[in-house]
Amino acid sequence: MSPVELHDSAGATQPADMAVSDRPAPRVLLVDDEEDTRMLTEAILSRRGYEVRLADSGRTALAMLAEDYDAVLLDVMMPEMSGLEVLSRIRETPRLARLPVILLTARQRDRDLIEGYRDGADYYITKPCTAEQIEYGLRLVLGDGGASRRTPG
Ligand SMILES: [Mg+2]
Repeated sequence: MSPVELHDSAGATQPADMAVSDRPAPRVLLVDDEEDTRMLTEAILSRRGYEVRLADSGRTALAMLAEDYDAVLLDVMMPEMSGLEVLSRIRETPRLARLPVILLTARQRDRDLIEGYRDGADYYITKPCTAEQIEYGLRLVLGDGGASRRTPG
């Protein structure tokens, strides 16, 4: 079984456009080395009206961030380049310095949280997590309803 168990109890009966109504869909970059987590989270967020793009590594994520996103969901525990390292690179890039970043961390990893906030994380979610926790975090960092923060151009 995947270490991440996403439960989507409340989302199953909601219409697809409930999360964002008539606003443009918030664009979220989901970075996780585990395919199961990517697929589950993408399914949940897509159903709730988010536009989701996937990266399976920190390096891929940094390349994809040449495009504009409204928020990043960033796994901490990844091979080669950890989520914390990706976060540091994001914050070092002036265009991305204020991009909302939510860390996805394993429980029993308090050190990650302290380092994550020090490195500029906006919020964190501990795995295993629910669909509701992810959406709550996104709404929090995006502002109510998920209005786009993307800078024009
Ligand atoms: Mg991982």
